[in-house]
Amino acid sequence: MTDKKLIGVDLGGTTTKFGILTPQGEVQQRWSIETDILEDGSHIIPNIIDSIQHHLKLYDMPADQFSGIGMGSPGSVDLAAGTVSGAFNLNWEGTVYPKRDIEAATNIPFYIDNDANVAAMGERWQGAGDNDPNVTFVTLGTGVGGGIIADGRLLHGVAGSAGELGHITVQPGGYLCTCGKRGCLEQYASATGVVHMARDMAEEYAGDAKLKFMLDDGEDITSKIVFDLAKEGDPLALKVVDKVSFYLGLALANVGNMLNPKYIVIGGGVSAAGDFLLERVQRNFEENTFPNVRQTTSLRLATLGNEAGIVGAASLVLADHAQTEE
Ligand SMILES: [Zn+2]
Repeated sequence: MTDKKLIGVDLGGTTTKFGILTPQGEVQQRWSIETDILEDGSHIIPNIIDSIQHHLKLYDMPADQFSGIGMGSPGSVDLAAGTVSGAFNLNWEGTVYPKRDIEAATNIPFYIDNDANVAAMGERWQGAGDNDPNVTFVTLGTGVGGGIIADGRLLHGVAGSAGELGHITVQPGGYLCTCGKRGCLEQYASATGVVHMARDMAEEYAGDAKLKFMLDDGEDITSKIVFDLAKEGDPLALKVVDKVSFYLGLALANVGNMLNPKYIVIGGGVSAAGDFLLERVQRNFEENTFPNVRQTTSLRLATLGNEAGIVGAASLVLADHAQTEE
């Protein structure tokens, strides 16, 4: 391994985050810019190039001090071609060529993967994954995403859809998902899914509960409000959290039964509910795993938070080097 530095880029719909890291994974510099998605997202790649060039100049670091730039992107990523298509939250309707454009402008090798896979790599390398070769990551945000590292390799599948834990069916015939299918985990364990379930359960709930009162009163609620009320003992909020935990525990148990990772790491906004959520998911996980998996696969909360993206993106550079050395 060289001592050359790494650049990690976490491209998101509102912000693009950057980091300069040592090959050991220490973040030495970090900064961010707004993602300008106007005019079909045509400014996004030029702005990333400008920002990298500006900062390398600022820190007086020439291109040859870097072994590569890694980037996590929304949308469908073609790893070999280094292209992204269908990233609708960036207004990229067609195919975009980050690898071609960024390598040409910076003279630094460029690697790319989708944002959930990249976050999985980050948590595995420097977060809750303890750099183990077998880590599965699930992120509970507005949607549910995931990434699988098995026997040391990030899994992609034939069309890049490996690790899409959000579309595991947990309730046949259940809520309609944005993917067109029914009963996906994403519809029950994402922030929006939690609110959807709370509304439906409030309609049928006959008892006295603050959550029901708020919903009947037309107040806007969030998944955080549901979890906070549950922690205070609100009976309806507890029922909602129990259901979220059941669906998530069931899905993760089946991931465990299939992959037997050392850790299944739970991240994203909903995971801010912490041990309160983890304990309940754990119970459902144990109930639905077979003994060897139950004893050897552990559920953990993510630890990197916002930094998972830049750290994981930077690690793509090392993963590529490791594979060419095999
Ligand atoms: Zn779905």
